[in-house]
Amino acid sequence: MTQDRRQPQRTCLGCREVKDQARLIRFVRSPDGVILADLKGRLPGRGAYLCNTRDCLAAALRRKQFDRAFQKACQPATVEQLAGKIAGELLEHLVSLLGMARKSAKFVAGSNAVLDALNRKGALSVVVLARDISPQIGEKVRRKAVLQKIVTTELLDKAELGRILGRAERSVVGLPDGKLAEAFQKELLRYQDISGEC
Ligand SMILES: [Zn+2]
Repeated sequence: MTQDRRQPQRTCLGCREVKDQARLIRFVRSPDGVILADLKGRLPGRGAYLCNTRDCLAAALRRKQFDRAFQKACQPATVEQLAGKIAGELLEHLVSLLGMARKSAKFVAGSNAVLDALNRKGALSVVVLARDISPQIGEKVRRKAVLQKIVTTELLDKAELGRILGRAERSVVGLPDGKLAEAFQKELLRYQDISGEC
């Protein structure tokens, strides 16, 4: 793992490895003892840091590392609860990034439009397929995207994608290269890490 020494370093409560703070998830203990993931880094109080993985969460919970880090007993929590909440929040970020793509009209939606854009090299950098996309169309889109090494992922369903983009059902959405697509990819990786999907 490469580490940038100029970045603040923190130890993961699970694997005990020292990593850049920015790559870890901050947790705090609420006054009533609930362990809270602080994805935006804004919650007050002492912070504890963990890799964004179920394995490190499980290790920290098993060894009661949260109680130690906060020097106070925490309410019991499971990996499912904590990871589920983090994944839910990250999914919200992904949805809001798609909403921003809609506002700035920086997206291509619908299977025909996306397939067409995939014929032009460099037109897209991320492709989101609805979970309920027809297998044939999904396969067609994936095959073209792979040739250009474009990140593809399955998220939400056709109705949800359409709603976010202010349209009727959409089975696939493409984001052109740019800051928004970059932010989306970064958040997508975090979402996949914690949700155990790929
Ligand atoms: Zn770790």
